[in-house]
Amino acid sequence: MRGGGAQIRAVILDLDGVIYRGRTPIPGAKETADWLARNGYGPYYLTNNSTQTREYYAEMLAGFGIEANPDHIVTSASLTARYFQDNGLLPATALVIGEGGIGEELRRVGVRVVRRRGKRPIHYVVVGMDRRFTYRKLHEAQQAVLAGAELIATNRDATYPVEGNVIPGGGSIVAAVATACEREPILIGKPSARAGEAVARLAGVRPEEALMVGDRLETDILAGTRAGLRTCLVLTGISSEEEARAAPEEMQPDFILPSIADLPKLLGSPGSRGGRGR
Ligand SMILES: [Mg+2]
Repeated sequence: MRGGGAQIRAVILDLDGVIYRGRTPIPGAKETADWLARNGYGPYYLTNNSTQTREYYAEMLAGFGIEANPDHIVTSASLTARYFQDNGLLPATALVIGEGGIGEELRRVGVRVVRRRGKRPIHYVVVGMDRRFTYRKLHEAQQAVLAGAELIATNRDATYPVEGNVIPGGGSIVAAVATACEREPILIGKPSARAGEAVARLAGVRPEEALMVGDRLETDILAGTRAGLRTCLVLTGISSEEEARAAPEEMQPDFILPSIADLPKLLGSPGSRGGRGR
């Protein structure tokens, strides 16, 4: 059983498929978030979406009655900004393919954000979800990389679930750019170990004291395993219990719960151990 071990002291929640689906909150999400806050588990929020700022998500959660400090929210956009800071990459100029959130987060840490090549050299090409992606943007990114820029991907999610539909995700755009310049990108968001490690650091706990809760095996659970976190699959989103049981070892969650509403039962009262295993 992988569920035993260190006491869980922080809980990291994925958003879509865990807290809400599209614009509909998942029953019990607010009550669980309140319970986690009251009992000192954070909670922290981690989404692979790069299109919005952390403040946007704080407001969105507030709309569901969930009070979340923007400092407890981590997006693949804010993680990318942090990557520049933590690795001493500033000052830097980045050509960005993405929507408002990624540009804003990068500018806040001092990255010079451009949308096309100019006279000054481009150090990085950052690619995320962009619903206005064009052939011209692809060409700009390709030329910048061929001229020496490093390629960074906010995430590689092939698809993106929206209300009643599935649309191409940031990973589809990353694939186009990576193919055009024949380069493997540096991956920032889930399932990179970077994502889980960054949130555990933010929470001030050791990786094994953090529980990653998500609905997708190949992003949430894999990211948790790679970062040395404990993991919990909820069945209110993408992946099913059957898929979890059939998945490769590193995508098998420590815990499987019907929904986020069952999390307080799993964690029990603070000071208790992490609950039942698989
Ligand atoms: Mg999700």
